[in-house]
Amino acid sequence: MSRTVYVNGSYLPEEKATVSIFDRGFLFADGVYEVTAVLDGKLVDFAGHVTRLERSLNELKMELPVSSDELLEIHRELIKHNKLDEGAIYLQITRGAADRDFVFPKNAKQTLILFTQAKPISAPKSGIRIVSAPDIRWGRRDIKTVQLLAPSLTKMLAKEAGKDDAWMVEDGFVTEGTSCNAYIVTKDSKIITRNLSNSILHGITRAAVLKLASELDMEIEERPFTIDEAQQAAEAFVTAATAFVNPVIEIDHVELSGGKPGPVVTRLSQLYIEESRKAAI
Ligand code: PLP
Repeated sequence: MSRTVYVNGSYLPEEKATVSIFDRGFLFADGVYEVTAVLDGKLVDFAGHVTRLERSLNELKMELPVSSDELLEIHRELIKHNKLDEGAIYLQITRGAADRDFVFPKNAKQTLILFTQAKPISAPKSGIRIVSAPDIRWGRRDIKTVQLLAPSLTKMLAKEAGKDDAWMVEDGFVTEGTSCNAYIVTKDSKIITRNLSNSILHGITRAAVLKLASELDMEIEERPFTIDEAQQAAEAFVTAATAFVNPVIEIDHVELSGGKPGPVVTRLSQLYIEESRKAAI
C-alpha cells in the first residue's frame, strides 16, 4: 500500500513525490537526517531528535527550514495519514537544488522530506550477532549526515559473514555499530560505552538509556573499549531509536551470556520501552 510522504510543504502519495536531480543531497550527500521512533501512534523523545537535528544543521552551516512546532505537526500528520501505530519517521534536510558546484549555493531553497516506516520495534528481542570491522567513515560522525555508504558497506560485510551487524573499530577501540551505539556490561554489572566526541553519533537513545541506568543506581563508565574486552564481558548491547535496547549475544564468534539476552540488558530494555511509552507525545 502506498504511503503518504511529505515533500517541501506537500503531503503526497510516495509515487508522486520527487526531488530535483540537482539536489545537493543526491550530488554531495549535503544533508542531514533524523529518525524518530513511534510507539502507540506517538513520538518517542521528539525534543531530543529536534535538538540534535538543529546541531547537525548548524555544524553544516544550515538552518532548520521550518519551526520545531511545524516539524512536530508534520510528524503528527504523517502518523495520522499513514495510521502509523509502531515504527519510525525518517526526516531528511538537504541544502537544496543548485547547479553542481563544491561551493555552497547562495539562494538554494532547502529540501525537507519525511516518510514513515511501519515496523514492530517494541517486540521482544532474541539478540544480535556481530563482527568487528574497520571504521572507514569520515571524521565528523557526531553530525548525522545522509552519507551512509561507509556504514552500509560495513553492514554488508556482517551480512556476508552471516551475522546481523558490525561494531566498527578505530585505533584498536570500538567506535559504534553501523547504525547504533555500542555497550558492554562487566561481570559486576557496570555499563561501559564510548565517551562522546566527534568519533561517534551522540545517540538520543544512548542519552535516555544512560539516564535511566543512573536512576537505577547502575555504575556507568564512558570510555573506549576493545573487542577483546567486549568478548570477556558478561553482556553487551546496542541502542538506536528504532532498535531501542538490543542485546548482543555474539562478538567475533565468541558467545556472550550463554548466547541469549542477559539479565541487565533484558531489564534495561523493558524499562526503556515502558518509560518511552509513558513519555511519548
Ligand atoms: N550511531 C550511529 C552511527 C547511528 O546511525 C545511530 C542511529 O541511526 C545511532 C548511533 C543511534 O542513535 P539514536 O539513538 O539517536 O537513534
